[in-house]
Amino acid sequence: MNLVILGPQGCGKGTQAKLLEEKFDLFRIEMGEALRAVANGDTPFGKKIYETINVKRELVSSDLVIEVLHKELQKNINNKDVVFDGFPRRLDQIEVAEKILAENGKILNKAIFVNIPETESIIRISKRYNCAKCQFRFILGKDIKNPTDSCPECQGEIQQRPDDTPDGVRKRLAIFASETLPVINHYRQVGKLIEVDGTKSVEKVFQEIVKELEA
Ligand code: AMP
Repeated sequence: MNLVILGPQGCGKGTQAKLLEEKFDLFRIEMGEALRAVANGDTPFGKKIYETINVKRELVSSDLVIEVLHKELQKNINNKDVVFDGFPRRLDQIEVAEKILAENGKILNKAIFVNIPETESIIRISKRYNCAKCQFRFILGKDIKNPTDSCPECQGEIQQRPDDTPDGVRKRLAIFASETLPVINHYRQVGKLIEVDGTKSVEKVFQEIVKELEA
């Protein structure tokens, strides 16, 4: 079963993608994370991606995304089925996803849309922190009490993502509405969409996704 999982910032698609990876033994590609890893490298390619993500706060051009995607797929040595987290995010990437899957003898089965209102997205992102050292992710008020706390896992310094400022989130939400909602509508039209209410608990959202996938 090959899946795509999409949704606005903070909807919890990353958490759901990890749960799907475990339950169905999938190979998970988190597009944003893969791009950030390249962006942190000291290469012209990395600098270009860093600027797009953290300064311009736009979507990375599809040719760069494809290059990173191919590198990620080379890690799928067991040729497992795939869950794409945050890809395709723009209409021109739909065909890319289909082509990449076809090259590996696969087809896309379902696209999952974890939906939350914009206000909820902004609230959740403002509470999202990660460790600068071990990259562990935390929620303020749940995993850590204060933004000045150190990482509960490795005592490293915690930080917010440079694109997680209120302005950054608003810009990315506008891009989600203009670029990614048409992708979701495409999957709705071709009968591949599963839409779930992302405001429910992690467990409930996951149960709903699994129920729909197994239906
Ligand atoms: P995320 O971690 O999902 O919030 O993604 C962080 C950033 O990576 C986005 O704001 C985009 O700049 C970039 N990005 C992630 N996925 C894609 C994609 N499929 N196409 C283009 N840019 C992407």
